[in-house]
Amino acid sequence: AAKLKGRNNYCIYEQEMNQANEEALLIENHLRKAIDNNELELFFQPKMDLSTRQINGMEALLRWNSPMFGNIPPDKFIPIAEDTGLIIKIDNWVIERACEQNKEWNSSWYSSPLRVAVNISPLHFRLPNFHNVIENVLEKTGLDPNLLEIEITENSFIDHIEECIECLNKLRNMGITVAIDDFGKGYSSLNYLRKFPIHSLKIDRSFIHEVAKNREDIAIVKAITYLAHELNLKVVAEGIETREVIEVLEEIGCDEIQGYYVSRPLPKKEFEAIYRRLPYQLL
Ligand code: C2E
Ligand code: MG
Ligand code: MG
Ligand code: MG
Repeated sequence: AAKLKGRNNYCIYEQEMNQANEEALLIENHLRKAIDNNELELFFQPKMDLSTRQINGMEALLRWNSPMFGNIPPDKFIPIAEDTGLIIKIDNWVIERACEQNKEWNSSWYSSPLRVAVNISPLHFRLPNFHNVIENVLEKTGLDPNLLEIEITENSFIDHIEECIECLNKLRNMGITVAIDDFGKGYSSLNYLRKFPIHSLKIDRSFIHEVAKNREDIAIVKAITYLAHELNLKVVAEGIETREVIEVLEEIGCDEIQGYYVSRPLPKKEFEAIYRRLPYQLL
């Protein structure tokens, strides 16, 4: 009986695998055409300086409105894009759109300029010519390099320490800011923090979410903040959903915050309504 059951379970597992593969394949086929069909769009989520309460930048977040699947979240299609290599084309589209957009905003409104952040897939960051990609986009769009930030996750560094340092140095020399995204979530190694020319740590929202209620989370956020400041890095907290969390973070000394409580990611037009009124305090 045990043997039979084992086999049945295996069959169910195999069926589910096949279904998942078929779905991924279907998504891949549509994603391939998404750029050319104009189905991709950037949303912008403001970042706020905690001490002045002013918006000092925004993160560009990708949205895909597919005629086939509707709005499909990045957590669903980005992994598929990574598995198939499509991510390079997509990331390039994002970088170029974000720079172009920020250039336009900076030329149209006489407010203090904002920095735009883009997420870069580890696969992309590890390409030997990654810094050339950035260089070309900056040249093409005319955006001031100081107004571009890239967000990379810790798994971008696995096995490639020396190459990463070299690439980060080139980016720094160009004037670009680099943040470590989802900090603390993966298999972090503190080793690279000593050597890497980066600017900020973005604490993963799983530590922020309940920081107002949870002693362990407070301890972790405090420790990361202390570490970052000793290393001359800024600390950004993502996923702020309540005022209580803001108060705790303020006490801990966090530099910047981002989250639904400040603002959701917004389509271009809605973000512009904020941008036009800078310096602007959302809270
Ligand atoms: P991320 O870079 O860590 O982005 C933050 C995610 O948290 C975004 O989800 C954002 O909408 C969401 N978020 C912001 N504030 C809150 C909050 O207060 N509460 C909660 N629960 N969530 C909040 P989104 O836009 O669905 O993106 C998910 C992930 O997909 C991103 O995580 C990033 O890793 C990836 N991604 C998004 N756009 C791009 C892109 O253009 N290129 C690449 N390579 N990856 C992207
Ligand atoms: Mg990010
Ligand atoms: Mg993140
Ligand atoms: Mg993420």
